[in-house]
Amino acid sequence: MTRRLDVVVVGGGIHGVGVAQAAAAAGHSVLLLEKRALAAGTSSKSSKLIHGGLRYLESGQFHLVWESLIERRILLDIAPDLVHMVPFHLPVYRSTRRRPWQLRIGLSMYAVLGGFERTFRFGSIPRREWQALDGLETRGLESVLRYYDAQTDDAALTRAVMQSAQSLGAELAMPAEFFAAELRQQSAIVRYSHHGRESECEATVLVNAAGPWVNEVAQRITPAITVPNIELVQGSHIVVPGEPRRGIYYVESPRDGRAVFVMPWHGNTLVGTTETRFRGDPDHLHPLAAERHYLVSVLKHYFPRYARLGARDLIDSFAGLRVLPGGPGHAFHRSRETLYVADRPLKPRTLGVYGGKLTGWRATAELVMKRIAGSLPVRRPRADTRSLKLRAVT
Ligand SMILES: Cc1cc2nc3c(=O)[nH]c(=O)nc-3n(C[C@H](O)[C@H](O)[C@H](O)COP(=O)(O)OP(=O)(O)OC[C@H]3O[C@@H](n4cnc5c(N)ncnc54)[C@H](O)[C@@H]3O)c2cc1C
Repeated sequence: MTRRLDVVVVGGGIHGVGVAQAAAAAGHSVLLLEKRALAAGTSSKSSKLIHGGLRYLESGQFHLVWESLIERRILLDIAPDLVHMVPFHLPVYRSTRRRPWQLRIGLSMYAVLGGFERTFRFGSIPRREWQALDGLETRGLESVLRYYDAQTDDAALTRAVMQSAQSLGAELAMPAEFFAAELRQQSAIVRYSHHGRESECEATVLVNAAGPWVNEVAQRITPAITVPNIELVQGSHIVVPGEPRRGIYYVESPRDGRAVFVMPWHGNTLVGTTETRFRGDPDHLHPLAAERHYLVSVLKHYFPRYARLGARDLIDSFAGLRVLPGGPGHAFHRSRETLYVADRPLKPRTLGVYGGKLTGWRATAELVMKRIAGSLPVRRPRADTRSLKLRAVT
């Protein structure tokens, strides 16, 4: 007999594990299918920031920033081993497009949206302290603003959320690749391979949290469901030797004005990111030579001690894919709000999660649960994800 579960989730990235945790916390039976490893996709390739996203204020995405800052507060509370505050430095040179007064307005809005918590203090670093800023270029430097935001280890966070889900009864099948689903009146028959063996189960709701593979998974569902027009945008990072001691630097690429982060990362420096339209297969994703070159040139521009850094000196480089709504214009200005696509509005049998942020994974998962609640049986909740502690998995 085919086994029946309340929720089957495809994808062991931050959104999939978040949904597994929220569903298990709400008392449901859950199975998560991950074809490679937890956080094998975008969730280990992000900039690793738990933040509102100061730059999203520029494109007017206030709701996103506000919600992300609430989530930042929750994560600092429930995952103190995994999420911590870091000073961010915004150097302003004569040539910097965003002027200090504009940045001050942005930081003030950031503080307002964050509810004026103590962590939203910001100010200028006195000129006499500039020499201590990890070798930051001081020629042409007019001002350095400092504010605080949070950093994490994205893959470790993903594993911690999955462990929390499992402690509430969720099951993980890995490696387990989703092949197909057939929608019935009140459920979906899900076919997958687990350790190479074909398996089948019945899900009251199938949640598609396959990140960049989301439409590939959606197209394997019959009868066919709506598949939104999306664009995959590649973002690459490089890792170079030497760790900044003072925190994170938020610089502006001299070439195109894009924001680039220079961050401490496991004893080294992480620099990112880029935005390159991607049309290939997400299973074969690599940073491009042009992206590595772009990031190295930004690093050298602001940190002259890297003047001799060559391609061979890079410790690592990796690329991730953002899922953005398709449309005209530059990806930078495209909405970063999460999109939820269900096969039917009231009692969905399947729901897809499109886009989103690492920071907002918990809120996203709770929203998914709200959207699919009408299809699920009433169960006795086991926990509240707002207060469930997350611990690093050793
Ligand atoms: C360059 C970059 C930087 C970013 N920086 C930040 C940041 O600093 N802060 C922030 O808040 N957000 C950031 N984000 C956004 C954030 O990283 C993503 O929104 C998030 O990681 C997406 O997670 P996901 O679970 O949706 O997808 P993924 O992590 O990609 O997970 C999808 C999973 O589905 C699995 N899968 C696919 N197909 C199948 C199948 N058929 N069967 C089984 N499993 C399958 C894959 O193996 C994968 O593990 C960044 C994104 C990018 C690209």
